[in-house]
Amino acid sequence: MSTELIITARPILEQPGEHVPERPSWDCGKCGQSWPCANAKSDLLYEHLTTPAAALVRLALHMWEAFDDFAARGHIPADLRERFIGWVRDSP
Ligand SMILES: [Zn+2]
Repeated sequence: MSTELIITARPILEQPGEHVPERPSWDCGKCGQSWPCANAKSDLLYEHLTTPAAALVRLALHMWEAFDDFAARGHIPADLRERFIGWVRDSP
C-alpha cells in the first residue's frame, strides 16, 4: 500500500492566469508590476482572511526565494522585506 501524499488543489494565488510572480524577475506575470502587486496582495489577504499568520509565512517563503533569485543575478533590492511582508501589518 502506498502512503504517498498527492496534492491536487493549488492555492488561489497560484492558479494560472492570476497575479503570480514570474521567476527570476519577481514581476507579476499578469500585470507586470513588482510582485506582490496590488491584486496579488488583495488575493492573498482574501485567501488567508481567517489565517493571516499563514499569509505571512507564505510571503516570507516567497521572500527567501526572491532573495536567492536576486542574489544570483547580483542585486538584492533594499526594500525586499517591506515589499514582501512589511505591507501585511498595515492591511485592514
Ligand atoms: Zn499583478
